[in-house]
Amino acid sequence: MNCIFCKKLSDNSKSIEHILPESLGNTEHVLRKGIVCDTCNNYFATKIEKIVLDKPYFKNVRYRNFIETKKGNLVPDKALFPYKTGGWVDMWLDEKGFIFDSKDTHIIDQMKNGAFTKVIIPIIDKPEENDYDISRFLAKIGLEFLTSKIVNDDEWVNEIINKKELDPIRNYARFGKGKFWKYHQRRIYSESDRFVDPVNHPEPYEILHEFDLLYTKKYEMYFVIVIMGIEFAINLAGSETEGYIEWLKENNNVSPIRRYTEVMISKSQSNL
Ligand SMILES: [Zn+2]
Repeated sequence: MNCIFCKKLSDNSKSIEHILPESLGNTEHVLRKGIVCDTCNNYFATKIEKIVLDKPYFKNVRYRNFIETKKGNLVPDKALFPYKTGGWVDMWLDEKGFIFDSKDTHIIDQMKNGAFTKVIIPIIDKPEENDYDISRFLAKIGLEFLTSKIVNDDEWVNEIINKKELDPIRNYARFGKGKFWKYHQRRIYSESDRFVDPVNHPEPYEILHEFDLLYTKKYEMYFVIVIMGIEFAINLAGSETEGYIEWLKENNNVSPIRRYTEVMISKSQSNL
């Protein structure tokens, strides 16, 4: 068998590919061994995912929603004690409250003495727009999600490997080839929103991430993913997003992945 990114033989590859990183709370969406070879798997982990997860917004969103790292640790972020003798310190949030830490013992001493009565904890509401690393991250997830739909049929997997129309997004995700791949980004719900679906899921639930493909009238295929309320859409066959903007206009700006039977409720109504 061959890798869907570099197309090299991947029979001996051992990695199971996580379509979305485990550090964003994904354990279920994976591709079996060999679909993505060990070399590509390792490249994406260190050169794309790690870089995206360490961006200020993603670090901030993971820490404030208690999303643990792959190793089960909480994600640290930064807080500022806004004093002449203060400064930035590391900070964790767990169920008991805030934990501050710094290598600067002078800051720690002043914290202990109660010299600081104010602390600034920044909230970063949205990712940077038109970000190169995020666009390659989305390109990678998009191609993997498409593959996950047909992964049990080897002929279809070969079709994806051989499809010339998919070479630009493949080479962009894996090798950074070609011009910047545009994507569409907007917030569609808040991190604290919860949902109930009287038809399919009557118990309240929280959505960390959800994704699907959208086929437009113009035969374009978009990969749409929502992570903690931020929706990203990327065109799998070209770097333009006009077709998606048009689709949104025709559909009252609803998200293509929202379920019609689903109702949004507040966090307090949900007990989650
Ligand atoms: Zn590969």
